[in-house]
Amino acid sequence: MTSMSREENGYFGEFGGSYVPEALQQVMDVLEEQFYKFKDDRAFNEELQFYLKEYVGRENPLTFAENLTKQIGGAKIYLKREDLNHTGAHKINNAIGQILLAKRLGAKRIIAETGAGQHGVATATAGAMFGLPVTIYMGSVDCERQALNVFRMELLGAKVVPVTKGQGRLKDAVEEALGDLIQNHEDTFYLLGSAVGPHPYPTMVKHFQSIISEESKRQIIEKEGKLPTAVVACTGGGSNAIGAFAHYLDEDVRLIGVEPVEAATMSEGVPAVLHGFKCLTLLDEKGEPRPTYSIAAGLDYPGVGPEHSQLKVSGRAEYVTASGQEALEAFQLLSKIEGIIPALESSHAVAHAIKLAKELSEEDIIIVNLSGRGDKDVEQVYKMLSSK
Ligand SMILES: *Cc1c(COP(=O)(O)O)cnc(C)c1O
Repeated sequence: MTSMSREENGYFGEFGGSYVPEALQQVMDVLEEQFYKFKDDRAFNEELQFYLKEYVGRENPLTFAENLTKQIGGAKIYLKREDLNHTGAHKINNAIGQILLAKRLGAKRIIAETGAGQHGVATATAGAMFGLPVTIYMGSVDCERQALNVFRMELLGAKVVPVTKGQGRLKDAVEEALGDLIQNHEDTFYLLGSAVGPHPYPTMVKHFQSIISEESKRQIIEKEGKLPTAVVACTGGGSNAIGAFAHYLDEDVRLIGVEPVEAATMSEGVPAVLHGFKCLTLLDEKGEPRPTYSIAAGLDYPGVGPEHSQLKVSGRAEYVTASGQEALEAFQLLSKIEGIIPALESSHAVAHAIKLAKELSEEDIIIVNLSGRGDKDVEQVYKMLSSK
């Protein structure tokens, strides 16, 4: 399928690539070779399918949001229920895929970095399941803010290393993790959490997340006998969105990424190298990545995956923003009328779908990728609402 191979030599147009030190490039080269070897390997895929079904709980439903559709009017809104996966979000799809690859490569330990902690939890879960020791690098400031996620990772048997260097944030944790990989690449696998980073990570993460649109395409044809008008997903690094878009790239379907207005990488970013790859990036006056402040921790990233950068420049996908306030309203509305509490990240996508549905007709269909459940956000929303 052509949509699966838009990438050429690790680039999506001018974006992507691998801007890393020579020692790391050798590790990336081996990873690339092995990923392409196993991605079409029958035994590998059978094992992956097994765990996606028995452990993650796939396939998950494509739920018609009938009450929401009635209340809003216009297009029919369907929800792709990544929130129903084990651990409550899409991140586990990728964590399982990469850890199975790590096992094939003979890795003895897994490392990862995490900002809000969600990817750390997914990685620690996969490590526990497959009996591989996991080390998670996390900025010391983030550790304090996300103390409960640190505890969760520890419960799952992972070692969390707080990084005090620099500003004690995600960027510093990425650097520590890369340093570890250079030192220990003989027996260590770096499990990356979004469709970002040097080649082959963006392509690999897309591959493992494409299961989302593989299922939703089959499901919508079963239910409606036709493809949707639009697929809407929130974009942080862009992994749930690229997975939700993948099987529609060559179809006449609108693809819409929704980013927080407070971290509007696509709308305001410029091409720059960030964390070893080129993408649209938010920079400050000094040319440094600009800190972002989304209410949804998972969307708080100054860059975005290279394929999204290219899809934006080529015009194939549209990228819009939703504000924290709009996301908060969508969070409450979906909870109240559908009985589904969405993650604050996913609430950005729901907020846009609500706007879009009104502009479309009853013949139209919108699929919203519900990237995760909102249980993790309930306390934060409680505080935000009670301080008003
Ligand atoms: C991490 C996360 C995101 C953002 O990550 P992407 O790579 O952009 O998908 C979105 N939603 C949820 C629930 C998350 O945990």
